[in-house]
Amino acid sequence: MTRTVKLRSGTPVPALGQGTWHMGDDPARRSTELAALRAGLDLGMTLVDTAEMYGNGAAEELVGEAVRGRRDEAFLVSKVLPTNADRRGTVDACHASLRRLGTDRIDLYLLHWRGGVPLAETVETFETLVRQGDIGAWGVSNLDTDDLDDLGGSAHAHGSRDAVGPETDQVLYNLSRRGPEYDLLPRCRELGAPVMAYSPVEQGRLLEHRAVRAVADAHGATPAQVALAWVLRRDDVIAIPKASSRAHVEENHAALRLTLTAEDLSTLDAAFPPPARKRPLEIL
Ligand code: NDP
Repeated sequence: MTRTVKLRSGTPVPALGQGTWHMGDDPARRSTELAALRAGLDLGMTLVDTAEMYGNGAAEELVGEAVRGRRDEAFLVSKVLPTNADRRGTVDACHASLRRLGTDRIDLYLLHWRGGVPLAETVETFETLVRQGDIGAWGVSNLDTDDLDDLGGSAHAHGSRDAVGPETDQVLYNLSRRGPEYDLLPRCRELGAPVMAYSPVEQGRLLEHRAVRAVADAHGATPAQVALAWVLRRDDVIAIPKASSRAHVEENHAALRLTLTAEDLSTLDAAFPPPARKRPLEIL
């Protein structure tokens, strides 16, 4: 079962993808991690999120190996570090990522977070990389509403979908991090860009929570599935859990079949209240 979400340009991607932070670090775990990523591809979790930062390139190398021979099945997302995000640095970082990934195209290339380089310079370079065919499209990560406004000012992202703008904003969003619901999710909806929710199970910390467990028990499901089904309840959010075993990948995939009831949602709202005012975007 594959559900899709449309990026700003209209390109459909799987609503449930795979993260890779901390994968590729330990040679002893390599074959298990490769099997996990490939099992995810088999199940249609073909959006794979990585970054030059992860393991200083080790995660990208692992992803490259996982998709070898089946590159066209995957939708690869990688990220440039803000310290590399000037004109020259972005191009060099992108080419280094392409080499590690063993491919000639990154499907979606994100600015990992906002640093000292003017957003307009990074965006112009992303546009050049699109024209050259090195990347299919570009987006941002960890940008709050005011940053998106600045991006709009620099990249003319306001207004119609024809204008230049980010495909997505990849941010921390899960049951225990609901701040984006107040203004960032509505702002992204206005832009026509889905949010890509990172750390959707709060790096495992949500799995022991009493309310999450209670809802899971009521469905004969697992806490991870409840946390994921909750993120995926919205049609404008993509979730990218990281799972380094085949069992976790299969378990997470089954979250696509779990529909939370109104009663489940109010139990979860009581335990994790929605934001009543602006909260600055949190980062992990
Ligand atoms: P996640 O919320 O995805 O949690 C990952 C942890 O949860 C791992 O320890 C994993 O264990 C465990 N887990 C996953 N599935 C299950 C399951 N079914 N049962 C029990 N435990 C489970 O955290 P991440 O921070 O990794 O976020 C996901 C991805 O988002 C990252 O890998 C990265 O690609 C991206 N990200 C982006 C950031 C950004 O700044 N743009 C910041 C942080 C993350 P195990 O590995 O043993 O399966």
